[in-house]
Amino acid sequence: MAVPFIPAQQVDVPEINFQSAVTLPAAKTALVIVDMQNDFVKEGGSLVVPTAVETLPILQSLLGSARTVGMRVAYTQDTHFADDPEYKIWPPHCKQGTWGWEIVEELAPAAEDLICPKSRYDGFYGTWLEHHLKVWQVENLVIVGTVASICVLHTAASAGLRWYNVVVPADGVSALTEFDQALTLRQVSWLYTGMVTRSVADIEFVS
Ligand code: ZN
Repeated sequence: MAVPFIPAQQVDVPEINFQSAVTLPAAKTALVIVDMQNDFVKEGGSLVVPTAVETLPILQSLLGSARTVGMRVAYTQDTHFADDPEYKIWPPHCKQGTWGWEIVEELAPAAEDLICPKSRYDGFYGTWLEHHLKVWQVENLVIVGTVASICVLHTAASAGLRWYNVVVPADGVSALTEFDQALTLRQVSWLYTGMVTRSVADIEFVS
């Protein structure tokens, strides 16, 4: 390691502690679907994460399992306006009212689901997510969606800081690079003491 420590082009991914099976009580668990919006997922979107579309059938299955056991479901919805300061960092995206802003139809929210419009990466910042999680009295959050290392990680981090038990399945999140995907899983499982699994199939909800 050189001092100052500047990473080389190639770094080893530290050990990630994948759980082989996670069982969660449905009444104490919420599914949080982060930013699965057309701009991030669908061809023609302004900020597409190429692997996000591949997570759609996986997340449909997870959402189906959650609904079957009557679990709470919350969505974050990245929401920006004209001249939004985030457009200095990213191309304009998820402008309120546009097609790109809409949640993908494959994961369409149900009437009873919570939708949390958010203006920054963290799903808790400036939103009513925390209020409703408290009202629901849930302790565990299964967090999926995109972009893994940005809005998923900031939301998972923010949940971890509030002492929620965070569970992130690797095949339920999508990043722009393999490094970013690994970084997300490493930070969630190590720094925020959450649980990560290789697949949504490793997570079971029980009534
Ligand atoms: Zn944004």
